[in-house]
Amino acid sequence: MSKKFKRTKILATIGPAVFSGEMIEKLLRAGVNGCRMNFSHGSHEEKDEQIKWIRDASKKTGRAVAIVQDLQGPKIRLGSIKNDHLDVKNGDELILDYAMKQHDGGKTLPVQYNLAEKVKPGEPLYIFDGRIRTEVVGSVSKTAIKVKVQNDGYLMSKKGINLPDTDMGGDILTPKDLTDIEFGATRDFDYVAVSFVQVAEDIEKVRQTLLTYGSEAQIIAKIETKKAVESDEAMEEIVKATDGIMVARGDMAYEVGLEVVPVIQRKLVALCRKHGKLCIIATQMMASMVDSPSPTRSEVNDVATAVIQGADTVMLSDESTVGKYPIETVMAMKKVILYTQDNCAVDACLGTTVEGQQGIKYDAIAETAVSLAERIGANAIICETKTGMTATAVAANRPNLPIYTVTSDPRVAQQLALCYANSAFVRTYSDTYGFDMAKELKDMGKFEIEVPTVVIVSGRHKNVVGGTDTIQLRKIR
Ligand code: PGA
Ligand code: MN
Repeated sequence: MSKKFKRTKILATIGPAVFSGEMIEKLLRAGVNGCRMNFSHGSHEEKDEQIKWIRDASKKTGRAVAIVQDLQGPKIRLGSIKNDHLDVKNGDELILDYAMKQHDGGKTLPVQYNLAEKVKPGEPLYIFDGRIRTEVVGSVSKTAIKVKVQNDGYLMSKKGINLPDTDMGGDILTPKDLTDIEFGATRDFDYVAVSFVQVAEDIEKVRQTLLTYGSEAQIIAKIETKKAVESDEAMEEIVKATDGIMVARGDMAYEVGLEVVPVIQRKLVALCRKHGKLCIIATQMMASMVDSPSPTRSEVNDVATAVIQGADTVMLSDESTVGKYPIETVMAMKKVILYTQDNCAVDACLGTTVEGQQGIKYDAIAETAVSLAERIGANAIICETKTGMTATAVAANRPNLPIYTVTSDPRVAQQLALCYANSAFVRTYSDTYGFDMAKELKDMGKFEIEVPTVVIVSGRHKNVVGGTDTIQLRKIR
C-alpha cells in the first residue's frame, strides 16, 4: 500500500462487515482517518466495544482517528410489517399510527414517530426510499395520520419515510437522540453528526444541549432537507453556525431531488472552504463495491470530483458496513484521491474568512503561511495548535503539501484527522514543540529529502487562544 500522504480524508461508517479489532486496524492501515457510528442501529454496549476497537487500532497504527457519533434524528421509519411485506395500490389509504404495537396485515401500519402533530394535508410523504409516494390526507387521531398512495408497489418493515415539505418546527432532536447525546458525552466521540438539520438555529440548540451534557464533540450538520438548501443564504447560515457539514446525498436526493444534489454539493464545499468548516461528502461514492471488487467509472469520477472541489473528507456507508469488500473499497478510494491530488489542482476559492472563538481571525496568517510554503517549495507546513483553529485555517487554503500539526490536546488531534491535509500529533507543550515535531517527523522518515524545509506556524505564548503570531522558515538538519 502506498505510503503517500493523501490530503483528502476517508471516513468509514462501521457496521457488521468490519466489526472486529482486526478489521478496524485493516481499515486504518488501508487509509481510513475516521470512523462513523450510525446511532440508528445497535446498543450502547456495542458502541463501547467499537470505540475500544478504534482507539486500540489508532494506538497500534500511531495515527489519530476521529470518531463520529451520528444521531438518528427524526429519521422516521415504519415499524414491523406482518410477514415483512405489504402490497399497496394507487389510491389506497393507509393509516400510520405511532401508538400501534403490532401490524395485523391491514392498512393501518405502525410508525416510529408521532407524525400527527407535524404534517399538514396535501404534503408529500415518501416511503421506502421514495418507492411509494403518498400524499397526507390529515391527522386522524393524536397519534395517527392518513395518507393516500399514488403508485403501486409494496412496503417492508422499518423502511424510511421522507417528508420533504414538512416543517419539523425545530424539533430535530428526538428523545432517542437526547439519550444518545447523554451517553456520547461521557464517551470518546470527536464529532456529533446531526441529521435533518433545517435551519441554523437547530445547530445552536444542539450546541446548547451538548454543553449541558458536558460534551467536547464538535458538530457536523447533515445537509439533507429541502429547507436547509432552499437558498444560498440558508446554506451559508448553517455553515457559519456549525463546525462542519456532511453533504448527505442519500436523503437529500429523496427530499430535494436527485438532479439538485451535484449543484448543492459544489456550493456547500465552497461555503465550507470560505468559512474554514469541515466538509464531508457522503453516500454512494463507491456503492457498487458493496458487491463488486472494483468501482464503476462514474464512482471514480465522483471521488475525483470531491477531491478537485476541495472537500475535506469522502465517506463510505454501505460499502464499509455491509459490503463484501470494505478494505478494497478504502484502497480504491485512496488510489483515486492520490492520483487526483497529484495531477489536478483543487478548484480556486475566493479567500477564506476563518473566525474562531471571540471573533478571533485566523485567515491572514494562515493564508500567508500557505503562500510562503508553496512559493518556496517547502516540504510541509507545521502547525502548533491549541484549539485546532490555526490548523483548520491553514487547511482552508487547501495547500498542496502536508500539514503536520502538533497539539497537547488529544481531542483536537482526533478532530483534525478529518481535516484537509492535516496529520496531527499529540505532544506535551513546549516553546519549541513545532520545531521539535519537524525533527521527529524527519526521523520518522516522513520527508523524502535529506534536509527538508518546513514552514512553522506558531504562537509565542502558551495557552493563549488565538495567539498564533509567528511564521518561521526552517531547514531541518
Ligand atoms: P444517513 O445519512 O446515512 O444517516 O441517512 C447520510 C445521507 O442521508 O446521505
Ligand atoms: Mn440521511
